[in-house]
Amino acid sequence: MNVLSNAYPTAALREADARHHWHPFTDTADLNRHGARVIVGAEGVWLTDSDGNRILDGMAGLWCCNIGHGRPEIAAAVNAQMAELSYYNTFFKTTHPPAVKLAEVLSEVTPEHLTRVFFTSSGSESNDTIFRMIRHYWTIKGQPEKMTIIGRKNGYHGSTVAAASLGGMEAMHKQGGMVPGVHHIAQPYWFGEGGDMSPDEFGIKVARELEKAIDAIGEDKVAAFIAEPVQGAGGVIIPPETYWPEIRRICSERDILLVVDEVICGFGRLGTWFGSDYFGVKPDLMPIAKGLSSGYLPIGGVMISEKVAGVLEQGGEFYHGYTYSGHPVACAAAIENIRILREENIVERVHNDTAPYLQKQWLALGDHPLVGEARMIGMVGALELVPNKPSRTEVFANTGEVGTLARDISIANGLIMRGVRDSLILSPPLVISHGEIDELIMRAKKTLDDTYAELKRRGKIAA
Ligand code: PMP
Repeated sequence: MNVLSNAYPTAALREADARHHWHPFTDTADLNRHGARVIVGAEGVWLTDSDGNRILDGMAGLWCCNIGHGRPEIAAAVNAQMAELSYYNTFFKTTHPPAVKLAEVLSEVTPEHLTRVFFTSSGSESNDTIFRMIRHYWTIKGQPEKMTIIGRKNGYHGSTVAAASLGGMEAMHKQGGMVPGVHHIAQPYWFGEGGDMSPDEFGIKVARELEKAIDAIGEDKVAAFIAEPVQGAGGVIIPPETYWPEIRRICSERDILLVVDEVICGFGRLGTWFGSDYFGVKPDLMPIAKGLSSGYLPIGGVMISEKVAGVLEQGGEFYHGYTYSGHPVACAAAIENIRILREENIVERVHNDTAPYLQKQWLALGDHPLVGEARMIGMVGALELVPNKPSRTEVFANTGEVGTLARDISIANGLIMRGVRDSLILSPPLVISHGEIDELIMRAKKTLDDTYAELKRRGKIAA
């Protein structure tokens, strides 16, 4: 066995990391001045770093480790599959049992009309896949001009160039540009942009931006709209209740495809199997990844509706695929992950028990003087940090500075939360227990207190 554990002193690891490893979404020069945090083990909701600290993983890795870390059943399933068939592709009229079995299981757990899956290895690859699928779909239907895909500001759909174009992260567009034929509309961010409107009024208003964009571009030129049920990386933006029904209405009336990106919300995050179930929307295409395998191995996919599959089937060969589409070992991990989610009733427990338990305490953090809004849906939430409560319009100077400070304080307090602009966001493993939730809330509260004290010390908040 050649398992690379922490056989090296932390300083040596950091030094080699700085010399050879280029990290994602990282200011490398800055990182290398301080050195990376070294995580050496994980079990359940707990991470262990190289100094022996136990840290509560409030982000489930990167929103993916739904069943928690270190389940031996997944390791066993992966081992058994490795021994039997470690790799073969699914091109050229070939398949294998793990790919077939996973496809079948996915058609059972996803909304009923989504009956086929195209396998990928990540959320980004899934969204690159829909890009080609959508344009190909309209070409087959004799409307090749229907090419524009509408996404949302601050949406996140991945890091490949096409997926990042669908996303609305300006900082990403500035590095390398965008694929032509993508348009962005506003996000349903009531706290930041809702002004004096009620959340429900605002939900309708931003949904109707889609209608306005279709009119401006021309219905004969718009192919699809893509959105996350709840925007994740954009800062856990929970849409007002009026939003999704209006979006679905517009897509149906205007004959454009609806893509619901379930990479974060899928597999139980909202206390339902999919965000589409929660909001009662019927996607035409549904990208998935992350919780599909709880991150144990890289795998993603695109769930395809009967309607879209019926058209694509008339189009001859689909010139698209990845060496690792339906990788047998990744499929084995996903099959076992879904078995655990189902047999242990994890999604139902989130819905009926642990999410309400967490939400009650999380929403109470909204009383803290630093918190302008605490919001949560299922097991994903955010705390908006503000300088002068209850004003929703006054913000800290240098957006992001306070969010980063609070995030660093949180990690020092033994809780991983992520900073987005000046908010803290949370998305813990779905298996978190009541006792662990109490511990999480205690650490979050201490983080708010410590951040508040530090901001006062720095004169950023009136003492
Ligand atoms: N879609 C959404 C909604 C995501 O949150 C992410 C990743 N955070 C992606 C797509 C991209 O997934 P990946 O990082 O696996 O490529």
